[in-house]
Amino acid sequence: MVPVARPAPEPCRGRFAPSPTGPLHFGSLVAAMASYLEVRTRGGTWLVRMEDLDPPREVPGAADHILRTLAAFGMESDEPVLYQSRRLAAYEDSWQRLRETAGCFPCACSRATLRAAGSTLIGNEGPIYPGTCRRRPPPPGQPVAWRVPVPDVEISFTDAVQGPQRQNLAREVGDFVVRRRDGLFAYQLAVVVDDAFQGITHVVRGSDLLDSTPRQIYLQEQLGVAQPAWLHTPVATLPEGEKLSKQTGAQAVVANSASLHAALCFLGQPVPMELARAPLAELWDWALTHWQVTRIPRQLARPAPA
Ligand code: GLU
Repeated sequence: MVPVARPAPEPCRGRFAPSPTGPLHFGSLVAAMASYLEVRTRGGTWLVRMEDLDPPREVPGAADHILRTLAAFGMESDEPVLYQSRRLAAYEDSWQRLRETAGCFPCACSRATLRAAGSTLIGNEGPIYPGTCRRRPPPPGQPVAWRVPVPDVEISFTDAVQGPQRQNLAREVGDFVVRRRDGLFAYQLAVVVDDAFQGITHVVRGSDLLDSTPRQIYLQEQLGVAQPAWLHTPVATLPEGEKLSKQTGAQAVVANSASLHAALCFLGQPVPMELARAPLAELWDWALTHWQVTRIPRQLARPAPA
């Protein structure tokens, strides 16, 4: 019998991309574990990318602490860890391309000016940009940020957990910053450049970045790079609802089965109680056999276990 030719499965590549602003906490463990399981259960390659792009926010030693904790859980990057601090030439190149092709323009407005101009605040990300410097370029000689102009069209995508999403960048975000006034490249640009560079096919991360996804899709279109599949998990919060983060004093997670078990429960996986005390290898065996995205609660946030 002639064997039927089957298309080779698409090589799956995923990543965990922490910012080294503090130790790995329960919330970041959830994101790391979800991306790891999603990639491993597809037979793919899992990468760690250190998003050390913003020196003022970094905590000395945090990057190494994060990598050591991941390794203690058994999660190690399949390829050398990529450090964003060593990728500035690539961001510079893409920023130049955006200047040439996407009409990226200089902007001298400070947050305070924008607020004073009555722009609506969106979350903690600052005001919706009213187009001030797009209409009238700032006089030369002052420090400027660089913004990408956005069209008045809806960007839509389907998230594997949160379902269909849509956002009108012009109305809900405005022209957004790709290079900051202090010269640093913005997260939105760096993440798109590096996801493309690393051939990432599956972006798995916390829902606090769901809102950023349409901006990233827009940059992917402008730079002519592929769009990955998206999966945003609920983020872990304090009982009062604040997101667990370095700012809210989240503790370093202890690298043991109880923590991994709690992260699996947090993502709705029906893991037997007794595995909380089993060796890590046994828990990973269970997780790799039973991981089901459809069980992840379709919520933006949920309280972390006490
Ligand atoms: N570095 C970002 C953070 O720690 C995550 C970026 C991403 O996964 O796209 O929040």
